[in-house]
Amino acid sequence: MRLILLGLPGVGKGTQAKILATRQGLLHISTGDMFREAAAAGTELGKRAQEFMSAGALVPDEVTIGMLLERIAQPDAAKGLMLDGFPRTIPQAEALDAALAKQGDQIDRVLYIQVPEAELVARLTGRWSCSNCGAIYHMQSKPPKAAGVCDECGGALSQRADDQPATVNARLDTNRAWTEALAEFYGKQGKLEAIDGTGSPDDITARLEGALANVS
Ligand code: ADP
Ligand code: ZN
Repeated sequence: MRLILLGLPGVGKGTQAKILATRQGLLHISTGDMFREAAAAGTELGKRAQEFMSAGALVPDEVTIGMLLERIAQPDAAKGLMLDGFPRTIPQAEALDAALAKQGDQIDRVLYIQVPEAELVARLTGRWSCSNCGAIYHMQSKPPKAAGVCDECGGALSQRADDQPATVNARLDTNRAWTEALAEFYGKQGKLEAIDGTGSPDDITARLEGALANVS
């Protein structure tokens, strides 16, 4: 089974990809993780990728496609794939299709996790941390007892630049453009399955697995 998980930041894609890969015995591949590991290891690839990641831009297709195709050519990829964060462009999707077709394989299903916009913004902007002790709060799942004040030490809570509404909205806009383009690409192939991303992580896992029931 070869799967792609699609969804905007904040839908819980990374969490679900790991759970599904373990439960279904698939190789989990996150291109974001691969780039971060390469950057931490200081490889040539990592250094190149880091420039784009720091700028909030996509790593160029020629770098990304080469890295991904090399990874899925490894023996452990034969057990099946759970792709997370790839493809992000149409050329990436086409290169993936072509490489799989060469070995007589294909993508079986593209699971598109969807969460209403307002809920996504609330999830992504809800994180606050203590400027004194570093404790982390979330307005939805772990609110502080008093607004703006750390339960642990009484320090002032502040929001990282990444989590502020203007930054979050810009990030959603950029991601929406490629996510929708890919949804259309796989929709035309009849492989796209929309999954409701609201509710508990267990609910979402159950819906995802329900959508896999009739995959060969
Ligand atoms: P996010 O932090 O937005 O959840 P990821 O962890 O998946 O994203 O990826 C982190 C960064 O790695 C991206 O912002 C991008 O620069 C780069 N990256 C990951 N996957 C791809 C891809 N398929 N194509 C181009 N760039 C990618
Ligand atoms: Zn504190």
